[in-house]
Amino acid sequence: MTARILVVDDIPANVKVLEARLTAEYFEVDIARNGPEALEIAQQGACDLILLDVMMPGMDGFEVCRRLKADPRTYHVPVVMVTALDQPADRVAGLEAGADDFLTKPVSDTQLMARVKSLVRLKMLTDELRLRASTSRGIGAETQLDPAALDSGANGAILLVDDRPSSAETIRSYLKHQHAVDIEAHPQEALFHAAEGNYDAVIISLELADFDPLRLCSQIRSLDRTRNLPILLIADESDTARVMRALDIGGNDFVTRPIDRNELAARMRTQIRRRRYMDSLRESVKVSVTMAMTDPMTGLYNRRYMESHLDTLLSDALSRERPLSMLILDIDFFKSVNDTHGHDVGDEVIREFARRLQRNTRGIDMTCRFGGEEFIVVMPDTDISLAIRVAERVRRSVADEPFAVQNGARFIDITTSAGVATIERLDDTRDTLIKRADQALYSAKRHGRNRVVSDAA
Ligand code: GH3
Ligand code: MG
Ligand code: MG
Repeated sequence: MTARILVVDDIPANVKVLEARLTAEYFEVDIARNGPEALEIAQQGACDLILLDVMMPGMDGFEVCRRLKADPRTYHVPVVMVTALDQPADRVAGLEAGADDFLTKPVSDTQLMARVKSLVRLKMLTDELRLRASTSRGIGAETQLDPAALDSGANGAILLVDDRPSSAETIRSYLKHQHAVDIEAHPQEALFHAAEGNYDAVIISLELADFDPLRLCSQIRSLDRTRNLPILLIADESDTARVMRALDIGGNDFVTRPIDRNELAARMRTQIRRRRYMDSLRESVKVSVTMAMTDPMTGLYNRRYMESHLDTLLSDALSRERPLSMLILDIDFFKSVNDTHGHDVGDEVIREFARRLQRNTRGIDMTCRFGGEEFIVVMPDTDISLAIRVAERVRRSVADEPFAVQNGARFIDITTSAGVATIERLDDTRDTLIKRADQALYSAKRHGRNRVVSDAA
């Protein structure tokens, strides 16, 4: 793993120490000696993580952090505050300013590397998601902060895994003003709840009596349903080795006993806010992928997707010498539906037509709205006689039962014509196939509509 790390500190000796350690681990290091310089470098977009000193003349680290987190160009870059003051109040102030983590000087090597590596991993994941979200939205650089980035991280649902009732109650009392906290004493039950419930985060005590809490971490990471659930560990001060191991296998953060309630609350909010931000990125990737593939009115595949996927299906069928057939359907006299009942009713008819079409085709068939009131069904592994039977079934399902519109206030008789074509030659292409199906459709229209005509006929 390599990444570009920006070290911000006004004291050259401090910079040297961090730079040497990071370079030894093959990280690329950039240096800024004050806040404004740091902001400028970060805005250029090339850094993966920022190690930020708190005490600097002029603009202090908190202010730099607030500015980084308010800027859509730098919001997603993880910030670790480095402070000489081992004061919980300072840590909390850092987290409140939006920092992702903090380290106290003198910085221990294991701490530094564990934090840096886990945040760099997070950054890579975020970058990947941001890239996919923005390319599929067709937007290059981000110009606006994702609304999820402004989330406070409050009102979370938290699962707390701790088998000591007094400890569990104490932790809950620290968090219950901001979150709903469920306590589970049994780790296996906890895994089950985590997978079934709708939690924003899990807290795991590293002092479970009969169960290895690290196993629970790795199980949470390996289940699909819980893969992205933030895990915060509660550890004894002396337990550094296990904490590092836990962070390595997927824990996100930890607090040590005796627990500082403000620190716990601030870390919890950071985790929940980050999760919501990542979820929102994932969601926008999903939505834009769906949008790129489907017709919003009917939910069927759109023309563009059908055309590109048809190429794949066609070459697959040709190389395996398997049949492949296509239907083109066009609603009869649809203009008069619009003219008589209005455009909205026309839309309702199109949607109901799509539903009937889908009910009468198989899952592996690709059903698409080709445009207006025209539809195409691509049927892999289907010869012409089977394709004709499918077309006939669709035709009947449309003609046999009038379409209910306006919540059943009116019923309209609809019919459809269909043209069927199949692969005939090794040099058949998407266009030759569509053309033959279209000619068959034209012939169905000419011969009186409400009928199926095949290209072979
Ligand atoms: P034919 O039997 O020859 O197919 O007659 P037709 O009236 O269906 O043929 P034509 O292709 O001339 O008309 C299709 C009409 O479908 C014209 C267009 O306004 C309407 N249309 C296309 N897309 C939509 C849509 O999304 N919603 C509605 N309501 N109408 C649409
Ligand atoms: Mg028509
Ligand atoms: Mg038409």
